[in-house]
Amino acid sequence: MLLGAHMSIAGGIDKAIERGNSLSCTAIQLFTKNSNQWKGRVITDEEIERFFTLMKKSKITRIIAHDSYLINLASSNKELRERSINALIDEMGRCRILEIRYLVMHPGAHLGAGEEIGIKNIIDSLNIVLEKTDGWSVDVVLESTAGQGTNIGYRFGHLRSIMDGVKQKERVWVCLDSCHIFAAGYDISTPEGYKRVIDEFDKHIGLGRLICIHVNDSKKGLGSHVDRHEHIGKGCLGEGFFKILMKDSRFENIPKIIETPKGKDMKEDRINLAILRKMAVNP
Ligand code: MN
Ligand code: MN
Ligand code: ZN
Repeated sequence: MLLGAHMSIAGGIDKAIERGNSLSCTAIQLFTKNSNQWKGRVITDEEIERFFTLMKKSKITRIIAHDSYLINLASSNKELRERSINALIDEMGRCRILEIRYLVMHPGAHLGAGEEIGIKNIIDSLNIVLEKTDGWSVDVVLESTAGQGTNIGYRFGHLRSIMDGVKQKERVWVCLDSCHIFAAGYDISTPEGYKRVIDEFDKHIGLGRLICIHVNDSKKGLGSHVDRHEHIGKGCLGEGFFKILMKDSRFENIPKIIETPKGKDMKEDRINLAILRKMAVNP
């Protein structure tokens, strides 16, 4: 089972592996730099070496990277979009050094220009990014969003439109976030709803394009468009959803990553992962 959590890189990127190991993760997600800054510090050779040495000894077989929150490919502001394009290419370069194939990114926010223009901006930006990184073994993964503010990506159709517009289609994948899709209005909280939504996803996107699932409960209700994560089973989504998900054999080989609230000592992660592991084995 590919299960783990988003891990901090405080103290070095290799520390994320150590932290993941300490929680018996088989998959982890990390930022390759500070998520609230445009420029990341250079990854040192020693850091890279430690990273690969630790990986070899570890039970973690999948690492997913997540991009900076500042990047907005949907913006109609030329300067912000150019900055975002360059920052995304830089992050893909960091992934390349670390041999991380998949970089999860938020599609972007149109900031009032409208969804159609926002989606076009994302497509144009991604085409530049993918052309400039042509031949790299690093792909982008569009994360489904809650649709908070002017964020694009809260309908499967948005993701479909972006994928259709991109030239290097084989390098664009999708990440489902359970909190986000529920807040976006997809009711996955009941068995019938779950089936309907996954079928709809399969029809629009295709399960074969799914690379990662963010396993989060939601503090806010169905269709609230509010992006607030909650501990597993403690939110509006409820534990029923997670029980179905953890037993769904279609997702056996898809890394499941929690991004639930946490303090400094990872105690909360330990609890949430234990709950999910139990759901995966119990009838
Ligand atoms: Mn995200
Ligand atoms: Mn997420
Ligand atoms: Zn979120």
